[in-house]
Amino acid sequence: MTAAHLDALLVTSLPNVRYLTGFSGSSALVLVTPRETLFITDFRYQTQVADEVGALARVVIEPVSLWNALWHELPGTGGRVVGFETAHVTHRDFQRLLEAGSAWQWRPTADLVEGLRERKDEGEVALIARAAEVATRALARTLPEIGAGMTELQAAGVLERALREEGSEGFAFPTIVAAGARAALPHAQPTHHAVGDGDFLLFDFGALVEGYCSDVTRTVVVGRASAEQREVYEVVREANAAARAAVRPGMTGRDADAVARSYIERHGLGELFGHSLGHGIGLEIHEAPRLARTNEQPLAAGAVVTIEPGVYRPGWGGVRIEDDVWLSPDGTGPRLLTDFPRDLLELV
Ligand code: ZN
Ligand code: ZN
Repeated sequence: MTAAHLDALLVTSLPNVRYLTGFSGSSALVLVTPRETLFITDFRYQTQVADEVGALARVVIEPVSLWNALWHELPGTGGRVVGFETAHVTHRDFQRLLEAGSAWQWRPTADLVEGLRERKDEGEVALIARAAEVATRALARTLPEIGAGMTELQAAGVLERALREEGSEGFAFPTIVAAGARAALPHAQPTHHAVGDGDFLLFDFGALVEGYCSDVTRTVVVGRASAEQREVYEVVREANAAARAAVRPGMTGRDADAVARSYIERHGLGELFGHSLGHGIGLEIHEAPRLARTNEQPLAAGAVVTIEPGVYRPGWGGVRIEDDVWLSPDGTGPRLLTDFPRDLLELV
């Protein structure tokens, strides 16, 4: 805040609120000043806020509109230049800021809290590691239940039930299950389409533990794999392994992406790898840093990132293999959090 020349920062992003205060509810405004943290929520969260936030902030329970409480409290904070989060304020709320009067200068900010969130502390890494274990255990329970004739939705149901039973408090994002030619759609939503014999079947899913996400993709073949399926799979598996071995804090997002991309390009499949290599995970499923051609910034020590190369051939199918790694700051190299086989599995 000092570097950004702010007297105060208004935090409206709920993941940022959770990161700063521990609050997991869905209604909050937080005003951070050098003297105190003001936490505004509504009656529904009166008990929860005492448990989760405790004495970390001065809590105000507001019966009508959180903004009413903010206008009531703001004069007492002594701040004049107040930052707001440009990525997390609706236009309607921005108008409220403008209408609040000339006593305050509203200063747009971007990624102030997100920048802090990029480096995970040990407690955060432990939660993501637990979410990764829940996810891989759920997949291990699911695969023996899967067979030809089942729909993508039914397969997703088996997996989501296993996630819950293994202790996931929800789903990190809507589960992707894609069979056959639909596996060529990187973000396919499960449908009534039935899995055919010899189809690729792609699962991309994540568990949630105390708000922290994991993100795993495995692609299997239902029945026996063809030579072409094996060939494509092997290229993706090697690209995943190369990137997992090479990624380091301090490397740019672009260079990390290039490790997997150059391998896939050397095998003539570069055109079919149309997305970036990976992304940070934490309280949100997509957060900093990006492992992408467009990111020239160094990856932060302590970040947890996905490594997810894929090859997608329209009309034929696709393969993605996604793991989560911690870029541990102690120089010992990346730490793998998703312990699950990567050899091509044939469900027969
Ligand atoms: Zn994923
Ligand atoms: Zn991902």
